[in-house]
Amino acid sequence: MPDFSQLPSVETLAKRLTGESNLPRPLVTGFVKRRLSKWRTRLAEGEAADRASIEQEIQSGLQDFSSSRLQPVINATGVIIHTNLGRSPLGQRASETLSEVATGYSNLEFNLRDGKRGKRAGYLETALAVLLETEAATAVNNCAAALVLTLRTLISSEKNEVIVSRGELVEIGGGFRIPEVLETSGAKLVEVGATNKTHLKDYADALSDRTALILKVHRSNFYLEGFTDEPDVTEISSLAHDHGIPLVEDLGSGAVMNTDQLAPIDHEPTPQDALRNGIDLVIFSGDKLLGGPQAGIIAGNAGMVERIKSEPFFRAVRCDKLILTVLQECIDDYLACKGEKKPSIPVLDFLSTPVEELRTRAEEISSQLKGLSFPVSIVETLSRTGGGTMPRAEIPSIALEITPVGSSLEKLARILRGGDPAIVGYVSGDKFLLNLRTVFPSQDQSIVNALLETLQ
Ligand SMILES: *Cc1c(COP(=O)(O)O)cnc(C)c1O
Repeated sequence: MPDFSQLPSVETLAKRLTGESNLPRPLVTGFVKRRLSKWRTRLAEGEAADRASIEQEIQSGLQDFSSSRLQPVINATGVIIHTNLGRSPLGQRASETLSEVATGYSNLEFNLRDGKRGKRAGYLETALAVLLETEAATAVNNCAAALVLTLRTLISSEKNEVIVSRGELVEIGGGFRIPEVLETSGAKLVEVGATNKTHLKDYADALSDRTALILKVHRSNFYLEGFTDEPDVTEISSLAHDHGIPLVEDLGSGAVMNTDQLAPIDHEPTPQDALRNGIDLVIFSGDKLLGGPQAGIIAGNAGMVERIKSEPFFRAVRCDKLILTVLQECIDDYLACKGEKKPSIPVLDFLSTPVEELRTRAEEISSQLKGLSFPVSIVETLSRTGGGTMPRAEIPSIALEITPVGSSLEKLARILRGGDPAIVGYVSGDKFLLNLRTVFPSQDQSIVNALLETLQ
């Protein structure tokens, strides 16, 4: 007979753990119940455990669960658009307006001039179009939704073929693959060219009276080099337009500013570039290089944008008022700075912070860490844009490098991740690094405090 007397009572354990964890009691009770039921099975199967170790296991499981609550994190990975860490942080302007709109009523669909029903996102759409130097624009939940919506709108039962180069059948992440997106949207994929080379003739030969559109997909997360070739966008555009077919590009990253002016990296094609070169509609993410909230922006030909907005599916993927607010502030920020200075958007700040500034901060941090048992040094390292953008871009950066003595790297990393605020660094070889390019200067002191506490 298994010895169930080692199992603590749900009530007693849940009460103690609620006090320790600060989680709502019903959540803790449910968690404890599920774990105890698993322990019952394990004991019945002959596993030996005493009450203390069972309680310990459940407590540690609850800590794991508790740490999964959404909370702020200090990103010391040096990866600027870190999808797992929430991609782009919001600027001051956006977060202040967000808080005002979030905690009260707003004119979301109300015309304050005539007191009647108003147009949702009307201001934002105009501002986007002006920023992107095009006729019209709108925004939906994310870039993936923007792509599905655009495809659904532009295909019909008679014309459902979408032509895509074999060099652009990208997997974006999380299993999101272009061929599958097309299928989901009801489109029929017509692949042209080879992985490394696609010629204009390949596109021309694939055109038929069933062609709905030509789709270009920016190779945002990988790089194609060597024996490669592809036609100029302007050539594909002339071909498409001679046949009265729309040309759409999924740009992904959506850098509106010239990235090569911000950091010593390549020029990421901007939506303005794409539209100027004859793309009818561009689609890109709001929370990658644009530095805004999660959103999918669709911009270009006014007639097409209008059709997309009147497609019933648009409603299913539209943005809520909080996102619209943040995006509006972000776009206004760009427009207010246009051409002269850089908007105060964290992603752009991180891209363009001079290395010397990072070094000065690192020295300041390190000067407060004297007398620790662990050596902390300042090293030159590299940063990445991340988030499936600019895979080749390496931006010089500065990191604090810590060599744990008598403790494992993983343990140090885990302790810092478990702190308040959580600090996420990375292990490289036998060192632990905190890359300062993605740390806000206002967070430096938290790093000092955490290191003093952990390493003493
Ligand atoms: C990132 C990316 C997407 C997906 O963007 P989400 O906003 O995350 O939906 C789509 N296409 C390309 C080319 C991308 O790089």
